[in-house]
Amino acid sequence: MAAALATVGAAVAVENPSVTDNPLLAPWSGPYGGVPPFDKARTGQLQPALEAAMAEELANVERIAADPAAPDFENTIAAMERAGRALERVEAVYGVYSSTLNDDAVQAVEREMEPRLAAFQDQIVQNERLFARVETVYESRERSGLTPEQQRLTWLYYTNFVRAGAKLDPQAKKRLSEINQRLAGLYTKFGQNVLADENDQQVVIEKEADLAGLPEAVRAGEAQVAEARGLAGKWVVANTRSSVEPFLTYADRRDLREQVWRMFVNRGDNGGATDNNAIITEILQLRAERARLLGYETHAHWRLENSMAKTPDRAMALMEAVWTPAVARVREEVADMQAIADKEGAGIRIEPWDYRYYAEKVRKVRYDLDETEITPYMQLENLREGMFHMAQQLFGFHFRPVDPSKVPVYHPDVRVWEVDDPQGRLIGLWYFDPYARKGKRSGAWMNAYRSQERFDGDVKTIVSNNSNFVKGKPGEPVLISWKDAETLFHEFGHALHGLSSNVTYPSVSGTRVARDYVEFPSQLLEHWLSTPEILDRYALNYQTGKPIPKELVDKIGRAETFNQGFDTVEYLSSALIDMKLHLAGGQPIDPDRFERETLAALGMPSEIVMRHRTPQFNHVFAGDGYSAGYYSYLWSDTLTADAWEAFTEAGGPWDKAVAKRLSDHVFSVGNTVDPADGYRAFRGRDAGIAALMRKRGFPVPSQAAAPAPAKSH
Ligand SMILES: [Zn+2]
Repeated sequence: MAAALATVGAAVAVENPSVTDNPLLAPWSGPYGGVPPFDKARTGQLQPALEAAMAEELANVERIAADPAAPDFENTIAAMERAGRALERVEAVYGVYSSTLNDDAVQAVEREMEPRLAAFQDQIVQNERLFARVETVYESRERSGLTPEQQRLTWLYYTNFVRAGAKLDPQAKKRLSEINQRLAGLYTKFGQNVLADENDQQVVIEKEADLAGLPEAVRAGEAQVAEARGLAGKWVVANTRSSVEPFLTYADRRDLREQVWRMFVNRGDNGGATDNNAIITEILQLRAERARLLGYETHAHWRLENSMAKTPDRAMALMEAVWTPAVARVREEVADMQAIADKEGAGIRIEPWDYRYYAEKVRKVRYDLDETEITPYMQLENLREGMFHMAQQLFGFHFRPVDPSKVPVYHPDVRVWEVDDPQGRLIGLWYFDPYARKGKRSGAWMNAYRSQERFDGDVKTIVSNNSNFVKGKPGEPVLISWKDAETLFHEFGHALHGLSSNVTYPSVSGTRVARDYVEFPSQLLEHWLSTPEILDRYALNYQTGKPIPKELVDKIGRAETFNQGFDTVEYLSSALIDMKLHLAGGQPIDPDRFERETLAALGMPSEIVMRHRTPQFNHVFAGDGYSAGYYSYLWSDTLTADAWEAFTEAGGPWDKAVAKRLSDHVFSVGNTVDPADGYRAFRGRDAGIAALMRKRGFPVPSQAAAPAPAKSH
């Protein structure tokens, strides 16, 4: 261990003389307690900075482990909280490069560094003297005068160490570390393969007639993509969700819909260099072996132990309770669509590439609601102001734009706001990176560049929201879909969860909560988009400036549970496959076959494909994060639906008392309390399944019991 340390340190010092002035390593300077040095950062600094920061942390950890003083909270747990400051700073910038500035050079750093970061983590967890100290502090935590937060942090450290193998014998530890390094390499390769298929494949449309049915904005977007790819005058459907879904929704040409659909659902499944099937088989076997080494029945049992669900059985029970009514609803949806196709004389049977297209027609017939009617009112910048208004009304937060010269950003499109609490005190910064560009991963997400904490001085959080809207021409408003607007509010919910944090230690701060709890605050805030307060003030027509008409809002409300069969089955089939793959144990698995046979056994409707098929399931195979954890969105939504009813049962969406309980027991507490306890303190009881079924428009079962309460310690 000491020898390994010396080698790392020496290599850094000799090979990278510039490491001492590497801006990624230095404490952040500037206003707001320092901000990320995006103006000085370069890709070439990432690897030496990661290496130096890892070496620094290992040296700190070694000092803590070798401390001659008897172990206590301060010299062990609190000391660990500050042992990796430099690495946290470097990883904040590395994360931005990985997710938003990704190119060949960054990918090379990922391939090199991800296995080494995994080995580095194991080195800390497997440090026996360190673990002995953590264990001592843990065993005496209830009688050594610690605050409840300190006790929970100690429990968290101990649990994380044990779960990562701190109690194994040396041979098992060695094997575990080999597995983790191999997995880290496979995760990187998996994600890069999906990205390669997304970047390299496309459907080129040569004739304008082939665009029939597509709204003007979709055509313009496809023309822009074509131009960017050297195909000016043509149209390109890129192999990404944001390009594919509008095409499948609107394009009249059925053969082109099928072509686009096949391209998209076969990402990572095309044979050749970017095929992910063999990688999945190996990942599953390694995960199963790791779980057995750690003393768990399967990877799923290991992963769920520290979640709110606690066991695969409880997660499966929830999924199965929703699956059957969702499939029944799909049968109804398909019948409605088939009726329209038959009436039109289309002479077809509804296939997966028809679902979105005919669903849109059903929506028009049944609800007289046309998505293109809504879009002119969905101006990105107005909706952003609407989110600020929501944060002000619910939590008393004020957002003020930061002068661009004061805070460096990594791309000119990124803007920064400072955020104050109701007393006018600064609580953090919010970075907003709204537009798609090459090298930025698809989808939308939030992350924290710095967590709130105050045990070593009052540190303000820095959070960011990222999405992939198509940037309009200068001066033109950016119009987004209703779904995108919901996503915008969702990610902002994560940001507010981070900004609300009011804890002492960074490891239990903000969104660092159980995986199946973290989506609850974000999903909940989606609900405020459709409130009259937000729509009347902020959903303004981009040409007339007039607010969205009440009839249209009412129609949106009536259509709220429309197509929930599709949405639920599309999502839940992925969640079930994820869980079943990880319950299958260590047998060699052929992913395509497993997927096919498992879906058949589940009674998967043939008209729908999984939202993420196994060979492209980044949530599950580009990292450990959501492995045996994709069910989390449904678990969280059970809480979300129930929590929203807390508002509607009281004074409505803006009820001050409910909002205060939400802030006090959910948004501000991070992981300082058990999530089940936090929820109960907010709601006065556990959440049952009834609200979730109402939200999705499914029949409420007569025995809609709450998931049994569970304690994590
Ligand atoms: Zn989310």
